[in-house]
Amino acid sequence: MHKGHLDNNEEQIKDTLGMNDIISVLRNEFSNIYLVDCKSQQIEIYRYKNQAVGVKEILQTKQPYKAAIQKYIEENVVLEDRKKMNAAADFEHVCSQLHKIPQFTVHYRVKRDGVLSYYYMKCARIGDADTFQRVIFAFANEDADVKQNEIEKIIHADITTGKRKILIIEDDALNREMLCEILKDKYDILTAENGEIGFEILEKNYKALSVILLDMQMPVCDGTEFLKKIGEDTALASIPVIVITANSDEDAELTCLNLGASDFIRKPYNADIIKGRVDNVIKLKESTLMLAAVEHDELTGLYTRQVFLHYAKGIMKFRADTPMHLVVAKIIDFKLIKHMYGNKKADEVIGYLASVYSNRVRNGLVARQGHNSFVGLFWEDYKTFEQKLKNVISEVKANLPVKGLMVKYGVYKDIDKRLPVSAICDCASMAEESIADNYDCDMAYYTEEMGHKRINNQMIEIAFESALKNHEFIVFYQPKVDIDTEKVVGAEALVRWYKDGTSLISPGEFIPVYERDGLIVRLDEYVFRQVCSLQKRRMDKGEELLPISVNLSRTSALHEDVAKRYIDIIKENGIPFSCVPIELTESAAIYNDRVKAMTEQLTDAGCILHIDDFGVGYSSLISLNQFPFSTLKIDKSLIDDVCQSKGKTLVEQVITLSKLLDMKVVAEGVETKEQLDIIKALQCDAVQGFYYAKPMPEDEFIEYVKGIQSKNQ
Ligand code: C2E
Ligand code: CA
Ligand code: CA
Repeated sequence: MHKGHLDNNEEQIKDTLGMNDIISVLRNEFSNIYLVDCKSQQIEIYRYKNQAVGVKEILQTKQPYKAAIQKYIEENVVLEDRKKMNAAADFEHVCSQLHKIPQFTVHYRVKRDGVLSYYYMKCARIGDADTFQRVIFAFANEDADVKQNEIEKIIHADITTGKRKILIIEDDALNREMLCEILKDKYDILTAENGEIGFEILEKNYKALSVILLDMQMPVCDGTEFLKKIGEDTALASIPVIVITANSDEDAELTCLNLGASDFIRKPYNADIIKGRVDNVIKLKESTLMLAAVEHDELTGLYTRQVFLHYAKGIMKFRADTPMHLVVAKIIDFKLIKHMYGNKKADEVIGYLASVYSNRVRNGLVARQGHNSFVGLFWEDYKTFEQKLKNVISEVKANLPVKGLMVKYGVYKDIDKRLPVSAICDCASMAEESIADNYDCDMAYYTEEMGHKRINNQMIEIAFESALKNHEFIVFYQPKVDIDTEKVVGAEALVRWYKDGTSLISPGEFIPVYERDGLIVRLDEYVFRQVCSLQKRRMDKGEELLPISVNLSRTSALHEDVAKRYIDIIKENGIPFSCVPIELTESAAIYNDRVKAMTEQLTDAGCILHIDDFGVGYSSLISLNQFPFSTLKIDKSLIDDVCQSKGKTLVEQVITLSKLLDMKVVAEGVETKEQLDIIKALQCDAVQGFYYAKPMPEDEFIEYVKGIQSKNQ
């Protein structure tokens, strides 16, 4: 019955737009394909490729698109990208886009078995903008091998049916004939005996030409002159040129490369090499053209990340021996710029950067990736590249449309071409991230050390599930002490990882990794549950319930339903809301309506909120005023300087203003008696720091509390 369903559907659409062909090609590359009927919003054909089993066709009786896509997103897409995907995949939204453009692509990330990969969803209408009845959704891994030839067959049917035309410019008649002999079976050949005649033929035939074979040594208008001449004309310059050199003269080859040649053939001729090179150059050119036709970023006209990945892969394979470098450029605090100057100005910034980057690139490929970042691949010797990059960086800086805007560059020089392009991009991003907080530095190189870190981070990601299952994450407790009475007035829960039950890993190592990939949401909730359960046990035993605060990362704070889930957990345990305060780290990113609504939902239910790490981030007491925080935690970096007069003044100001806003103040990272005395004089309320106690395991913490409280009674 399922089979019949497929036949009917395929038959029905076969003659309209070659839908059958599209699906049969797409299914090799795409992990999922849905064909959706606009009226019923039901999936008519659904194909699914399971990596382990190969292509599997699961034909369903009609199934609602909405439910299927939601399931797909929930089961595959990483947490941070879900909201974007839900919005982009909304059927009404898709249709309204497709009334304007024939197809579009949405990029997202997928996590399976701890491995992160980049995916995209392509939506295309089947038919005209006004009358289309069906939409196709295809989902694919960006790094999967695209079977270019097959797709070409469909999109450029005209190209593949006829023979391609090539032009051979060579003064030696014997050589010309030999080349014709080698290539005539596959190509239509035009010939010229010098550059001048070659140029005339080229001007008349350039639209039909796929490649030019050019001899460097000729009496009238030699190869160099010819390359210069066509380099001045954009239409002509887009035709790839393969240069024929007499010997392995590297200088001459370098000159040609700089003049735009695509490849070399050396004399004496080897038929297989010649055929292979001509074929490769044509393939590369055509796939670029094809992709360029569909995949430009709307705002900048640059390639999209997807095209970049595909094309870069081709270039890397094709120029295996040329040194290549990859650069990621990222605008820092781009959201803030949008917020302060508006979308129009933000677009202007993007447009400005795109134009500088694309105008200055010769031996390279530049694309826009994400809303605030660019990526470029360059093939030339490192010295030339580095000089150019430095020039571009200072040019960008000098003329930015927004004063004080920062663009950071991460450079992976002399890339390892065996890696997938997306991994190479990640390496350059790591270099960029290493200086994200360093205001004096524009550019950083990817280093071996970062490479180790990358591998380590991957291990940390992969190990998450089993660590959680095996209870390797252990909660430690650091006491908070009242500054006047020296009684323990609370604690903070801080997670540690006993990896495989042996080595202890500090949160500084794994929290940033989990924050990046979204796993922190689950870890935060796990810690929260552990703390609630401890409080419940203490309550049941009739013991004193000191508030134990728990960290909520920014990613968790932005996660849907977080307030409801946390409230439910407290209710499940039947403990007072006040015994598990929630610490939220201060940064520009939390001052928005969404986080504000979340904090209000929590406090309305009775939760207590602390603002953490105050003094390192955005540090806006005014913005803070809008939020229902009861306590402010002064960051350790401010306490470190409190013994100097400037540092003291700063802490004093923060305390005074906090009091005005009716917040209690906790000083974090107090290590010495001297620091303690100063903040005591400044009327700080409580202290959390090594001076009193380090974070400790549960039993130790309980003993510690008993000891202190009995001493102070
Ligand atoms: P945080 O929330 O600011 O926690 C305070 C950190 O300061 C803790 O580091 C604590 O051990 C350390 N500290 C406290 N007093 C002193 C002192 O006198 N001297 C020094 N040198 N350090 C002191 P820890 O436990 O390594 O945690 C580091 C960060 O990891 C935390 O900073 C927090 O941002 C994050 N973290 C820890 N547990 C969790 C968690 O369950 N969820 C989330 N989202 N983040 C967590
Ligand atoms: Ca904290
Ligand atoms: Ca803190």
